[in-house]
Amino acid sequence: MSYLVATSRCPISHESLENRGSVKENVGGVATALKRMLGENGGTWVCWGNGKADSHYPIENVGRYKVVRVFLSREEKNGFYDQFSNETLWPLFHYFRSRIKFSKSSYSYYLKVNEKFRDKILENISNDTDIWIHDYQLALLPKLLREARINNHITFTWHIPWVSEEFFSILPEARQIIQSITSSDLITFHTRLYRDHFLSCTKRFLGRETGIKSKVLAVPLGIDTSYYSPRKTIPTSLANIKNKDIIFSIDRLDYTKGLVNRVMAIDALLKKHSILRGKFVYIMVVNPSRTTISEYRAMKRELEMNIGRVNGKYGDFSWMPIIYMYRSISDNLLKSLYTRAKIAFIAPLIDGLNLVSKEFVSVSEDGIIIISKFAGAAEELSGAVKVNPYSIGDMADALFVALNMKEDEIRGRMNQMKHIVTKHDLNWWLSTILRTIRKQKRNANAWNVNGSD
Ligand code: UDP
Repeated sequence: MSYLVATSRCPISHESLENRGSVKENVGGVATALKRMLGENGGTWVCWGNGKADSHYPIENVGRYKVVRVFLSREEKNGFYDQFSNETLWPLFHYFRSRIKFSKSSYSYYLKVNEKFRDKILENISNDTDIWIHDYQLALLPKLLREARINNHITFTWHIPWVSEEFFSILPEARQIIQSITSSDLITFHTRLYRDHFLSCTKRFLGRETGIKSKVLAVPLGIDTSYYSPRKTIPTSLANIKNKDIIFSIDRLDYTKGLVNRVMAIDALLKKHSILRGKFVYIMVVNPSRTTISEYRAMKRELEMNIGRVNGKYGDFSWMPIIYMYRSISDNLLKSLYTRAKIAFIAPLIDGLNLVSKEFVSVSEDGIIIISKFAGAAEELSGAVKVNPYSIGDMADALFVALNMKEDEIRGRMNQMKHIVTKHDLNWWLSTILRTIRKQKRNANAWNVNGSD
C-alpha cells in the first residue's frame, strides 16, 4: 500500500537555480499535515510546479516521498487558475454572486489541466495506491480517474465552504462537478453545514432516489498544538506597546475576509465610546494574495483608504488606532502577537475554516476570540464571541464587550476552546481520515471475498 496526494500548490517550489536559498516551503496547515503523512509513509505528491525554476525539477525526491510536477502554459495558468478557479469557483463557493465570471473557455482549460493531473497520477500509481485529492482546483479529477478504469481508493477533501443547492445551481457546470466528486470513495468537509449542503446538491443533481456510494464526512482540519505555544520573548517594539489592549488580526487580502468592515467597526467603536481613545491598538496584518488579479489591487486601495481615514479621524501625536502591515510575517512574530493580543478579531464575511482562530486559542492564555458566525471554525469554538460580520454595529458592540470582559469569564471561555482545539488537532484530522480509508478498504475486501464465494 502507498499514498499519492494531489494538490494544486506544491509543498516546495524553486525560484532560481543559482541561489540555494530560493527554495520556498509551503507552510500552510494542509501542506504541513500532508508532508508529515508522506514523510512517515513515503509516496508521491502530484502538484502544479509554478516556481520560476521548477521546470528543472519535474521529479524531486524529498525525504521519503517524491514530488511530481505538472507544468502549465501561460494560457493554461490563466484559464485554469486565474479564471475558473479564482474567478468562478472561489466567488461561487463564498456566495459572491456578482463576482462570479462565467466562461466556457476557462472551463475547458480547467478540464484540460485536471486531465494533465490525471495523466501524472496514472503514471505514478500501482493497484494498491490510495489517492487523496485536495480542493476546488482539482474537482474533475476523481471522475477522470474513474474513466481511466482505475479502482484505487480515492479520497477528496474540500477545503472551502460548500454552498446551498440553490446557489450551487448557478454554476453551468454544476452537474459535472458533483458527478466527479461523488466518484470518490470518501469525501470530507470541514463543517457539518458544508457536508449537509453537499448532500442536498447530490440529491438535486444525481436524483433523490439513487443515493451515492461515497462516504461523506465532516472532519475539521486541526493545527499542530505543540508548534503553536506561547512565546517567552516578545520583540521590543511589540513589548513597547504598554498599557494598551491589543486587538489583532492576520488575513490574506481577499474580499471574503471583510477587512473594510473591520476598520469600520473600529470607527464605530471609537465614535460610540470616546473613552476608549488611546486605550487600545488594532494591529491589522494583511498578507498579499493573488496580486496579479486587478480586483485585488483595487481592494487594497479601498482598504488602505479606510485605514487612513480612521487613523486621520482619531489619531494624534501619541496614538493611532490602527497599526497596518501589508506583508507576511515570521512565525515567531505571529506567535508573539498571539501571545500578547487581548482580542483576536476574526470577522471574515465567510471562511472555509480559519486556522488563525485555532492557532490563537493554542497560543493565548488569556485572550478572547471574536469570530464571524460565517467562519467554519465558529462551529467548534463555542467559547468565542460570535458576530455578524455584515453588521458594523454588532462588531463594535462585540469589541466593547470583549474589551470589558472579566478575567474569570475570559479564562472559562478559553479553556473550553483549548479543550476542543487540542482534541481535534492536526494528527486527529489526519488519523481520522486515514483510519476511515483503511476501514473502507477492509470492508470492500471482505465484500469481494464473500461475493466470490
Ligand atoms: N500565516 C499567515 N500569514 C503570515 C504567516 C503565516 O497567514 O504572515 C498562516 C497562518 O498562521 C495560518 C494560515 O497562514 O496558518 C492562514 O490560514 P487560514 O485558514 O486562517 O486562512 P486562509 O488564508 O487559508 O484563507
